[in-house]
Amino acid sequence: TFMEVVKAVYRQGNAAADSIAIRADQKNYTYAQLISSAWNISNILCNAGLKTVDGIRGNGHLGGARIGIVAKPSVEFVAGVLATWFSGGVAVPLALSYPETELLHVMNDSEISMVLSTEDHSELMRNIAAKCAAQFSLIPSVPSISSQKSEHYPSQIGAMDADRDEDPALIVYTSGTTGKPKGVVHTHESITAQVKILAEAWEYTSADQFLHCLPLHHVHGLFNALFAPIYAGSTVEFMSKFSVRGIWQRWRESYQIKGKKADDAITVFTGVPTMYTRLIQGYEAMDPELQAASASAAGQLRLMMCGSSALPLPVMEQWETITGHRLLERYGMTEFVMAISNPLKGVRKAGTVGKPFPGVQVKIVEDESENDTTGVGELCVKSPSLFKEYWKLPKVTSESFTDDGFFKTGDAGKIDEDGYYIILGRTSADIMKVGGYKLSALEIESVLLEYPAVAECCVLGLPDKDYGDAVCAIVVLEEAEKRKREEELKPALILEELCEWAKGKLAPYKLPTRLFLWDGLPRNAMGKVNKKELKKVLAAEE
Ligand code: ATP
Ligand code: MG
Repeated sequence: TFMEVVKAVYRQGNAAADSIAIRADQKNYTYAQLISSAWNISNILCNAGLKTVDGIRGNGHLGGARIGIVAKPSVEFVAGVLATWFSGGVAVPLALSYPETELLHVMNDSEISMVLSTEDHSELMRNIAAKCAAQFSLIPSVPSISSQKSEHYPSQIGAMDADRDEDPALIVYTSGTTGKPKGVVHTHESITAQVKILAEAWEYTSADQFLHCLPLHHVHGLFNALFAPIYAGSTVEFMSKFSVRGIWQRWRESYQIKGKKADDAITVFTGVPTMYTRLIQGYEAMDPELQAASASAAGQLRLMMCGSSALPLPVMEQWETITGHRLLERYGMTEFVMAISNPLKGVRKAGTVGKPFPGVQVKIVEDESENDTTGVGELCVKSPSLFKEYWKLPKVTSESFTDDGFFKTGDAGKIDEDGYYIILGRTSADIMKVGGYKLSALEIESVLLEYPAVAECCVLGLPDKDYGDAVCAIVVLEEAEKRKREEELKPALILEELCEWAKGKLAPYKLPTRLFLWDGLPRNAMGKVNKKELKKVLAAEE
């Protein structure tokens, strides 16, 4: 089980036990402190008399009861997850950013027995817990290094069940980009397989320090930047609110003197594309001296990664120009966490997500009814990290697999001449049918984003009586461009200008025929745009 992994790290001896697992609010927490706190919380859970899955009162062992964990990214959050695993429960990380109705939906759906939260959210969460008939418990604050010098190895920790690999351990809800969020059930086995894959591929070690600025109700923040680092014995530093200035400053502090690392220097960073866009904007607003210090510091991290949605080429290029880092882009989803990645060493090809990890199989299933010979098809994945099932959705689960056990991702893709995978977007929202052609919205977006006046853009198909779909672009212009064009800020003019420029880069039938000028794109916590919703909005607007 994943706890075995955690225990292994812990048992590497005092060096590992005393090394720093979590840093938050400028406090350090060792592995020993984290694990003994988790053990204490697991006693709270075991003594709460929670109902188990079978309806039997838990007798020290939670037997799969779901424990909702709502806390800002903190050592308490991590201790809550580990405690749930120590006591045989299923951790359900919940989003603080969700409005109450959505929180309630997820909590009712997963039938939470207990909500674990921290002091700062206790009033709200106590109320919400009561509404879904769940118990509530505060996660006791974890002592940091300064407040407690010597730690004791909790003796009971050896007495845990070891043989629970196939038991559910975690339910993570999908981002809800294509419908209602679905609860994805992961087992100790799938989690362990995934953290090993990630730590090996990206060479995470106990010397690594992660700057963590991602939400914890999603696999990117949970696996890439928390569970895998813990597996590797690294340090995870939480920045509980994403702050552009804070991040640049943290990197500068890490490498104040060129070539010299501070003891607590950040070595790895992972984010979603919009984070890098914001970081670039923040960099551009600095004075030249600060820019030089910032760029040089950022350049000294070991690794910078990007994922969760397509990384626009201009962002990748600008980032490389500024920091010298070629962002490592990879592809994943809640159902199998990460499956395809550009290499740590070797060529990171822009516009691709690299190749499948060792032990992961990916096949592209072409739509036979379409008579397609283009090599484009639905990506299907088989991996030891595959989820067990969608929570309480047996039909959806069984429909999501091919006869030979591959998970159907719902994403379209193809392989380039070097065997690198290119993601063309969701078959349901990004693949448009225009005339006889099948087009990828992502491909068109990536071209339009290269036009200097375009800051952000979203391409989608709107129903068209002649062509099936009409290629429609929602465009956000750079602020300076908006000011410059004050008089002529008309969608029709921008459309003309953009198409004139894009003519040589996109086939005529790929050029947008409709354009909307917006001040920003609505994005969720992971920076994703819900195209289904946008289509409705646009249809109503027309
Ligand atoms: P839902 O399943 O509820 O509709 P969702 O699919 O957005 O939401 P996630 O599991 O968080 O929920 O996201 C996985 C999706 O994110 C993938 O299916 C893919 O479409 C997209 N994605 C992830 N990484 C990349 C990438 N590097 N490039 C393009 N798309 C990506
Ligand atoms: Mg999905």
